[in-house]
Amino acid sequence: SIMNQAELQTSSEGYSIATVGDLASFEGKAFVKDILNTTSMEVSFGTLAPGCTVPFFHHHKQNEEVYVVLSGEGVFILDGKEEPVASGSIVRVAPSVSRNTKCTGSVPLVYICIQAKAGSLEQYTMGDGVVEQ
Ligand code: ZN
Repeated sequence: SIMNQAELQTSSEGYSIATVGDLASFEGKAFVKDILNTTSMEVSFGTLAPGCTVPFFHHHKQNEEVYVVLSGEGVFILDGKEEPVASGSIVRVAPSVSRNTKCTGSVPLVYICIQAKAGSLEQYTMGDGVVEQ
């Protein structure tokens, strides 16, 4: 597998744009925080090949995770319970929950993982967004 194949395309003081290339051929895991210089969340792209499982279970000290499944089929193992997922599934996992993921389909499971400190968000879109005239 290929580590961190994300590449910076352009950045300025206010924004950064990166790519992990064609998602259909993306392999491995790419953490984009270092490339995008995010300060409030970590975002990674991941793939698991058919039949593969992440080689370890883990939990977090502080961070909540949201997994967005882009393609494929798999199972999330959450505190020992197997939950099936597929393209379009969105999974939120509290920090203390033991987790693992496996690909159960015939094509790779492709997902985005977003993590941020649990309880840290002070305002949601309608409270924080400012519509400009
Ligand atoms: Zn994690």
